[in-house]
Amino acid sequence: MDAATISSWMHEIAASVRVERDHLVQLDAAIGDGDHGTNMNRGFEAVVQALGADQGSPPGRLLIIAGRTLTLVSTVGGASGPLWGSALRSGGRVLGDQTTFDGAQLAEVLAAALASVKDLGTASLGDKTMVDALEPAVETLKARIADGAPVSQAVEAAAAAAEAGMRTTIPLQARKGRASYLGERSVGHQDPGATSTALIVRALQRAVTSEP
Ligand code: ADP
Ligand code: MG
Repeated sequence: MDAATISSWMHEIAASVRVERDHLVQLDAAIGDGDHGTNMNRGFEAVVQALGADQGSPPGRLLIIAGRTLTLVSTVGGASGPLWGSALRSGGRVLGDQTTFDGAQLAEVLAAALASVKDLGTASLGDKTMVDALEPAVETLKARIADGAPVSQAVEAAAAAAEAGMRTTIPLQARKGRASYLGERSVGHQDPGATSTALIVRALQRAVTSEP
């Protein structure tokens, strides 16, 4: 995997967030302020723009550019933009200046992204946030790669784990973010951030699978 994998991942995210924007807005309207779909859409359209202007940067650098772009674009609001901005920057730093990376390094990138989300947002598993989708994805990816699975299979399992994690948020009461202000009324709704996180990991699966 190389810079083209990261570029393809970012394009796949932008495309699926574009398609799912209204769904993410509806989920956020139920337990938040209804801007999650537009925040993510605006952020990843800007990422695609920023990467389009880039020529020949290594994969880690592309992640850092993407992360910085998300953070910049999110200054107008939304918890998820800065969280993903910081996550992608941390992931990018793992790769340094190397031009290619393997499955174990991809798992380290995602682990660094998760650590940064947890650090900045102070959410744990079960708080009904994006962590509920990202953490199982990272744990699954690490475990499958350690077991010697091919990257495509490991990332497929990670995407399925993120989707399962997303569904586990439905019966939970939110303990972080705007949805936590609703208390018990947040129960019974799928978390928007966990939903977009599942899209992001599924986009990675598509980017990795379409490798030449
Ligand atoms: P805002 O809530 O500021 O309007 P968004 O609507 O863009 O921001 O994103 C909401 C999502 O952000 C939530 O569904 C949740 O998954 C995630 N989120 C909010 N606060 C945190 C946090 N402290 N840690 C992790 N994720 C969080
Ligand atoms: Mg919102």
